[in-house]
Amino acid sequence: MRSKIRKLFLGYIIVISLILSFSSLSIAAQAKNIILMIGDGMGPAHVHTTWLYATRQLGKGLVMTEIMDKGRTAYMINDTADSTVTESAAAGVQMATGVKVLARAVGIGPDGKVLKTILEMAKEKGKATGLVTTSGITDATPAAFVAHVDHRTKEDIIAEQLVKSDMNILFGGRKDFFITEAEKGKRKDGRNLVNEAKQLGYVVVETAEDMKKAHGEKIMGLFNKGNMLFEIDRKDSKEPSLAEMTAKALDVVSKDKDGFFLMIEAGRIDHAAHRNDIGAVIFDTLAFDEAIKVAYDFQKNNPDTLLIITADHETGGLAVIGHSHTSTEYVGINLEAISKIKGSYEKRDKELGKDPTLEKIKEVVKKYYEIDLKDEEAKPIEENLLKKLDPRNFHYDLQGIIAFMLRLYHRIGWATMGHSATPLFLWGIGPGSEKINGWRHNTEVFKIMKEAYGF
Ligand SMILES: [Zn+2]
Repeated sequence: MRSKIRKLFLGYIIVISLILSFSSLSIAAQAKNIILMIGDGMGPAHVHTTWLYATRQLGKGLVMTEIMDKGRTAYMINDTADSTVTESAAAGVQMATGVKVLARAVGIGPDGKVLKTILEMAKEKGKATGLVTTSGITDATPAAFVAHVDHRTKEDIIAEQLVKSDMNILFGGRKDFFITEAEKGKRKDGRNLVNEAKQLGYVVVETAEDMKKAHGEKIMGLFNKGNMLFEIDRKDSKEPSLAEMTAKALDVVSKDKDGFFLMIEAGRIDHAAHRNDIGAVIFDTLAFDEAIKVAYDFQKNNPDTLLIITADHETGGLAVIGHSHTSTEYVGINLEAISKIKGSYEKRDKELGKDPTLEKIKEVVKKYYEIDLKDEEAKPIEENLLKKLDPRNFHYDLQGIIAFMLRLYHRIGWATMGHSATPLFLWGIGPGSEKINGWRHNTEVFKIMKEAYGF
């Protein structure tokens, strides 16, 4: 009799603990909303130099590292079906679909088949969706979540697919791919996709002010004919910050009772790093951090939200280097000198012009960096020696050799003007983030998101 009671009691305990563990599992695993935030080209050194600048020059911490402390962090590799070094299209598609693909293809597998993305899956389940970037909305990273073309450069077709996709939010630059050549855009087919978007129910805005005032379930923001401005150059422009775009996007998609999927990209960290421009890298990464703060505040108020932060690849082979012209001991990054940078390479190079003279180089470097270059430092810039030595990795104009001359002043070095295979940080918080740990491949981001949604 006694053993019968004991068995009954044990059985009870097993059933109750099973129920408890199942219910806690389902609570832990289920995310109603996912916010995926991608720093394009943002390797660990981009995060680190920005953290150094924020903590030691601006006297504040970063929200991105706070989330690393409170959430989960992994290292992430990103090789494609054909290379150890990737680019934004393949990296975006691998995160969006979980499939290893060939470089430059968007939403299409190595076998030529169309791949279904996490955004498309979320949409099928009735969730609101949106894409936000400071680069072109037709650029590879946003395109990877909804478009299907064999090459990322077909941005006129990507623009058509974006407009037809019926997403709630499309914020970014490159309006050129939505308007005709006659309207000084880049469309050769005579179609005006801004008007077509309006007919499909989009409110279309072009300034920060209009974006804030806009009402409706579907908003398209095209804030620049080309890419949006670098943060370091954005002051006094009419463009919204990435944080402002993030806040507006969350405001719209969070009204959907079924939840949402939002991809937010700091698209120009990559562009700055391609031109070996540390000032533009740090300021665009700081702007990304402000957008992350907006998303994190939302996540804290809506704990059924999974917030994931990562990058698609590293750009520039960025490193903090040890020595100045004269140091005998390690001195490291010169934050004081970096704080004096006046603008991005884009602005600087307009003043520099093509084939600048020695005098012009010295004048512009003085204006933008408060540095007096000696003739023997300006001379290799004029001759573009780096490009002559390694034209494959230093393929842009003078920016690489200028950065090489600045490296002893800023103590920042660059290995290339292209991408590198440096492993990336992958981190996050919220339901499903417990799977973010260890050594991950970027195709696993898709699996983490899909499981978190419970699809
Ligand atoms: Zn790139």
